[in-house]
Amino acid sequence: MAAVVLDGKACGAEVEAVVSSRVAALRAAGVSPHLAVVIVGDDPASHVYVGAKERACARVGIESTRIDLPSSASFSEVVAVVERLNGDPSVHGILVQSPLPAGMDELSITELIDPAKDVDGFHPVNLGRIVQGRTDGLVPCTPAGVVKLLEWGGVELSGKRAVVVGRSRIVGTPVSLLLGRKGVDATVTIAHSRTPDLAETCRAADILIAAVGRAELVRADWVKPGAAVVDVGVNRVDDESEKGYRLAGDVHPEVASVAGHLSPVPGGVGPMTIAMLMQNTVTAAENQQN
Ligand code: NDP
Repeated sequence: MAAVVLDGKACGAEVEAVVSSRVAALRAAGVSPHLAVVIVGDDPASHVYVGAKERACARVGIESTRIDLPSSASFSEVVAVVERLNGDPSVHGILVQSPLPAGMDELSITELIDPAKDVDGFHPVNLGRIVQGRTDGLVPCTPAGVVKLLEWGGVELSGKRAVVVGRSRIVGTPVSLLLGRKGVDATVTIAHSRTPDLAETCRAADILIAAVGRAELVRADWVKPGAAVVDVGVNRVDDESEKGYRLAGDVHPEVASVAGHLSPVPGGVGPMTIAMLMQNTVTAAENQQN
């Protein structure tokens, strides 16, 4: 039996429909929700992601402004842009596209963003709220999208064993906290590069989240039959095609023959991340009216 597809495009479209109506309500009250995206340098993948975010803003009626800085920009130039955006009342959300050029301290920039405008949800205040079990702040987009996709797919989380492979600040750690929090109630194991028995650890999972950055690492014999598997990974694998590469997740396609649910790459977590960014931006705009 092939796994049920956790269709991030369909789920994301539903999230965006709700966002659109919230945007319309704000506009009716004279507020134009506005996202500013700062991109430093010319990393091609970053430009693709920023383009997708701008198109999503256009779909839901959020105004977007893109601030392009050259890869030669200094740390203090980036700081100056963030500080200007923090102080601009017409801007409700600020996103500094990762990665920043080598050597530029990303964490310091994250900490400079006004937490009320931190639509990526990476500021310590917003991450700290999740540790407190609160999701009334701005929740990181990819982790929030993973949980939303599972719930939308009808996957039972309460009392289930979840294994998250990866413990990054932006995906693995926050998604672990969201899955284990009161009200969601999964029992969470966090695995990483020092986990000795990774395949066995994964096989115990009712819910398996792969956020590793290693193409097709998770094989069919790592997965408990019927488990729900969410593939966060986006990896470039060289091939003979015209582009010279293909996109692969962290989960091998053969897992579809074992899992109960599986999110595709592309079309799974990617569209959810963008939809949750739209949701955070409208939430930020609403909160700034109070
Ligand atoms: P990071 O590189 O920051 O973290 C990777 C994590 O995986 C680390 O915790 C690392 O362990 C662990 N890891 C690495 N190799 C192994 C291994 N062989 N076995 C077990 N664990 C391992 O990556 P991110 O969290 O930023 O991203 C993960 C993936 O998700 C990437 O492919 C990225 O492109 C994708 N992504 C997709 C998004 C989307 O919207 N679809 C958004 C964000 C990311 P350790 O901590 O020990 O080093």
